[in-house]
Amino acid sequence: MRRISILGATGSIGQNTIDLIARAPGDYEVVALTGAGNISQLAADARRLNAQIAVTAHEHLLDDLRAALTGSETEAAAGTAAITEAAARPADWVMSAIVGAAGLEPGLAALQQGSTLALANKESLVCAGQLMLATARAHNARILPVDSEHSAVFQALVGEDISAVERVIITASGGAFRDWPVEKLATATLAQASSHPNWDMGQRITIDSASMFNKAMELIETKEFFGVRPDQIEAVVHPESMIHALVGFRDGALMAHVGPPDMRHAIGYALHWPERRSLPVERLDLAAIGQLSFRAPCETRWPALRLAREVMEAGGLSGAVFNAAKETALDGFIAGDIGFTQMSDVVEEVLSRVPAAAGQNDAAFTLDNVAETDHLARQEARSVINRKAG
Ligand code: NDP
Ligand code: MG
Repeated sequence: MRRISILGATGSIGQNTIDLIARAPGDYEVVALTGAGNISQLAADARRLNAQIAVTAHEHLLDDLRAALTGSETEAAAGTAAITEAAARPADWVMSAIVGAAGLEPGLAALQQGSTLALANKESLVCAGQLMLATARAHNARILPVDSEHSAVFQALVGEDISAVERVIITASGGAFRDWPVEKLATATLAQASSHPNWDMGQRITIDSASMFNKAMELIETKEFFGVRPDQIEAVVHPESMIHALVGFRDGALMAHVGPPDMRHAIGYALHWPERRSLPVERLDLAAIGQLSFRAPCETRWPALRLAREVMEAGGLSGAVFNAAKETALDGFIAGDIGFTQMSDVVEEVLSRVPAAAGQNDAAFTLDNVAETDHLARQEARSVINRKAG
């Protein structure tokens, strides 16, 4: 039996992961499930899967979790330290699907005990890619990408030599506003930004898709994970979301990964890797689809893409600044303090103000450095937001 843990079990990726493992309950021993506010889902899944421990990030919800687990064998715990401790319990495979920089420490803890980390939490690579990879190397652990584009690139690279890669192209659906006039974007509401044309995901990543901050994060994630140069990485708008990424080789060949927009493919690939097992995803009927289309992404519409390029060039801790500013700007948009297009203004301003040069090499790239930079960037972002809101 494989021992598995799911960090962020109550979210969109977590629930898709549970959907897959619940189909073969005899194959898995569930170690830890973690969540935050959704106690009833967390407890129900912990009971159903007979998890060793269920953890909520919120300490004030510990009593509720305990009550919801009464009569089961599952232990209850609460708080961010408890999540990291749960992630450090011996497991063969750990899904990292907490949203935001909060996923970094638990992911590192899982790597430190040698687990295979299935990584949906792109924020940890954007904030601290070098640290994640160095930790995996030091503990003989493995990171497998779960973000659909990165899973697609990973699959296109099977049996290939990375030095033969000329370019990596990740696709973007364009999100909720791809066809809106640019002038109208400033009026976009939270409800409008929270609906995605193709993918069913958590609210934050859905809004990030509309602003292209999600794609911006994924460009940086590509650089960090695959070690390719910024000038080798491109994004292309592909409204149908059927091709997830393409890898271009030096002989001119482009290998594309094609599949339905269903995260259970990438999750299942990471779960069964290096095998391919049958997965409950739609089989595409190409003739019925008829056509696939592509367009160049416009950086006036989506300034996040330009900012990502600057971050990739700058390196160091600029990814941590970028992510923290983006998360804070997103909080500001969700709270109604700033408008949709002001999110990228906030991030741009914070990037120009917070020093990010430290951490250019592995030794300087510590969790403390990342945490300090993250803290400074959030502080700065809040002051920029307050100024704009006031
Ligand atoms: P959701 O918002 O649906 O779920 C987030 C999960 O994290 C929930 O379990 C939530 O708990 C938990 N959580 C929230 N805040 C904290 C915190 N401070 N500490 C610990 N746990 C917390 O997000 P998604 O599933 O959409 O995304 C998860 C990650 O995967 C993100 O990094 C996202 O970018 C990435 N990803 C998602 C994709 C998708 O299709 N959804 C595709 C590719 C990548 P609760 O719900 O109980 O409050
Ligand atoms: Mg993605």
